[in-house]
Amino acid sequence: MARTNYEVNRQKTRVPMPELDPVERAQTFDEVALGYSEEEAVAEARRCIQCPNAPCVGGCPVGVPIPQFIAQVAEGNFARAYAIVKSANSLPAICGRVCPQETQCEGMCTRGKNGEPVSIGRLERFTSDWAFEHPEEAAAAMEEFACEGEGLVEQTAGDDAAASIDLSGKRVAVVGSGPASLTCAGELAKLGCDVTVFEALHKVGGVLTYGIPEFRLPKDLVQREVSKLGDKGVSFEVNALVGKLYDIDELMEDRGFDAVFVGTGAGLPSYLGIEGEGLNGVSVASELLTRVNLMKAYLFPEYETPVYAGKKCVVVGGGNVAMDAARTARRLGAEVTVVYRRGREEMPARAEEVHHAEQEGIRFQLLTNPTRILGDEKGWVSGVECVRMELGEPDASGRRRPTAVEGSEFVIDIDMLVVAAGSKTNPLIAKTTPGLEVTPRSLIVADERTGATSKPGVFAGGDAVIGAATVILAMGAGKRAAAGIAEYLVPKA
Ligand code: FAD
Ligand code: SF4
Repeated sequence: MARTNYEVNRQKTRVPMPELDPVERAQTFDEVALGYSEEEAVAEARRCIQCPNAPCVGGCPVGVPIPQFIAQVAEGNFARAYAIVKSANSLPAICGRVCPQETQCEGMCTRGKNGEPVSIGRLERFTSDWAFEHPEEAAAAMEEFACEGEGLVEQTAGDDAAASIDLSGKRVAVVGSGPASLTCAGELAKLGCDVTVFEALHKVGGVLTYGIPEFRLPKDLVQREVSKLGDKGVSFEVNALVGKLYDIDELMEDRGFDAVFVGTGAGLPSYLGIEGEGLNGVSVASELLTRVNLMKAYLFPEYETPVYAGKKCVVVGGGNVAMDAARTARRLGAEVTVVYRRGREEMPARAEEVHHAEQEGIRFQLLTNPTRILGDEKGWVSGVECVRMELGEPDASGRRRPTAVEGSEFVIDIDMLVVAAGSKTNPLIAKTTPGLEVTPRSLIVADERTGATSKPGVFAGGDAVIGAATVILAMGAGKRAAAGIAEYLVPKA
C-alpha cells in the first residue's frame, strides 16, 4: 500500500453526486449533476490510496497527474489541486462533466477492483468549479505551481517537448473552435504565438456549444473557458466558413499565417436512408440540438428561434447524441421512446446518460429497427414502422450483428422523429485544399504524433481526423498538434 498523508476512506462505494430531482429536471434545462461540496470532495478524494504506479494516469489521454491532484483535494488544498489539473488539462470544468471516465482513468483505478473506482471526473470538476468561485486563490496557486511544478507536468503529461520553444512573431490560423482547436490555440498562445481561430458558426466552442445540452454542460461555463483563451491573446473570427470565405491556401499566402490547424470536427449528420425521412416532424439530432443549445429555442418567445416539439417522439440511435436528443425532446414536453437496433450492452452511450434518461421517463425499445416512416395526408409524420431484431455473430466492430426477425413488424404512433444515427466529416476543406490527403470518408490523414498532414504547414486533429469520438481525444490531438506546429515553425537546431 502506498503512503498517504491522510487517513484513507475505506468505503467501497463513491460519495454520491447530488442531482436535481428527476421529476423536476424533466421540466427544466438546468444542469442535472450539482457537484460535490467541499466536504464531499474531501471524503471522495480520501478513497484514493495513492498507488505508486498510478494506473489511472495511463487511462487519461492528456496525462493529468491524477494522484497528485487528488492528494491535494484530500488535504483541503483546493487551489493547488486546481493548478495541478490545469497544468495538463486546459478545459477541466468541461472534461470533469462530459469525459467517459468509466472507460478511461476510472476504468483503470485500483479501487475499482474491489468496489467502485475513485470519482476522478467529479473531483476534477470540483477543483475547477471551486477555482471559478475563488479566482484570486486559484491564480496565485497557478503562478506558484508554474515555477515549481514543471517537472511534475513533464513526467506525466506526455509530449511537452515543445514547452520551451518561443513562438513570438509567428502566426497560426486555427480552423474550427471545438475542443481540438481550443486546446491547440491555448497551447500555442502559451508559447507566445499569435493565434486566430476561424469558426463557421456565430459562437465558438464546437460541439461543446451547439451539441451537448445545457443540462449536461452549461454554456456559460464553455464561454468562460473560451474567454480565458481571449485573455491569453487568442483572437476569434466567427461566421467565418473556411473553404467558402477563404480557403487554406489564401489563409497562408494572402493573410500571412505561417501554419494552419484544421479542427473542423465531424458535424455532417448521417440519415437512415428509409422511406419518409423528408416528412414534416422528422429531423436529425444535430438540428434539434443546435436550435435548442446554440439558438436557445427553449427560451421562446424570449429567443425567436422556432423549434418543433411533438407530443410523442421516437429517437433512433443508441449513442450519447441519441440520449441528448431524447432528453431534450422530453424537456420540450414530448413522451419519448428510444429505438435502438442492438441491446443494452451494445449501446455506445455512457451508462450514466442512459440511467439519467430512464430516470426522466424515457422508454427504450431495444433490438428494434425502423424500416419506414409513415405520414398523414398533410405531409406530417404519423408513425414509424419497426421490426424486431436479434443478435448474431460479431461484426467488424466486434459487436454482435443485428438481424431482422421476419414478420415481426409493428408501428409506433408518433408526431415527431429524431434521427441520431451518427455523423461524418464535411468534405468542404478536403475539396478546397489541394494537396491535402483525405480518406474515402473525407477524414483528413494526419500524423498521430504531430498532427502534420500531407500539405506542408497544415496540421489537423480531433473528429476531422479520427471521426466522431470524444472531447478528451480531440483535446489530446490538439495538444500534440500544437507541439508539432511549434517544432515545424522553430525547428530544433
Ligand atoms: P467539434 O467539436 O465538432 O468542432 C468543430 C468546429 O469546427 C465546429 O464549431 C464547426 O462549426 C467548425 N467548422 C467546421 N467546418 C468549418 C469550416 N470549414 N470553417 C470554419 N469552421 C468550421 N464527447 C464526450 O467526450 N462526452 C460526451 O458526453 C459527448 N457528448 C456528445 C453529444 C453530442 C450531441 C455530440 C454531437 C457529440 C458528443 N461528444 C461527446 C463528442 C465530442 O463532442 C466530439 O468528439 C468533440 O467535440 C470533437 O471535437 P473537435 O474539436 O474535433 O470538433
Ligand atoms: Fe488513486 Fe485510483 Fe489512481 Fe490509485 S488508480 S492513484 S486509487 S485514483
